[in-house]
Amino acid sequence: MDALALDPNGYGGTYKLIGGNRALDLVNTISWPLTSRRHDWFDLPTNVTTWLEAVELDPVPVTDSDLAAITEIRQVVAEVVRPLADGDRPPVDAIRSLNTHVSGANSRRFVDPTSLSWTWPMPQRPAHALDPVLLDAAELITAGKHGRLKQCPSCAWLFSDQTRNGGRRWCDMADCGSRAKSRSYYHRSKASS
Ligand SMILES: [Zn+2]
Repeated sequence: MDALALDPNGYGGTYKLIGGNRALDLVNTISWPLTSRRHDWFDLPTNVTTWLEAVELDPVPVTDSDLAAITEIRQVVAEVVRPLADGDRPPVDAIRSLNTHVSGANSRRFVDPTSLSWTWPMPQRPAHALDPVLLDAAELITAGKHGRLKQCPSCAWLFSDQTRNGGRRWCDMADCGSRAKSRSYYHRSKASS
């Protein structure tokens, strides 16, 4: 999978849309969470706009002052989906916070009389561009199938396993998957030498 052209701001890694769901791809805009390699791709407001466009949301201009509201939404989503990917129940408070944001997002959508589909007006604030992602998060949680919600055992990126046999293990075979493969090859060849 190709990397999305986000400005790495001096960071050595890349960002990829590997989540299979926008809510997970939003959470994954922090690479290597909880490690010393942690990198927040949303440190740069221009990256937020590029990301919005890549996931087919309104690519609104974002400034530094919008980042707090945007990363708060990301945090709220992460606190609900990451426990599920770990096989745990999300804390009740996390669900409450999500509900507050989902209800805001719901209040802004309407049925478009022409397309007869759910539609959002142009976002009044940049954070509102994430409204559809909040509903994606709610859908992901309420649809069940939590066993399909996984995290990469190497980098902790989250993804929805959409393979037929549910055997997906890595964020991307080209990254963590091939690193693990070459590691196990190394160990095997060490053992046999
Ligand atoms: Zn990974």
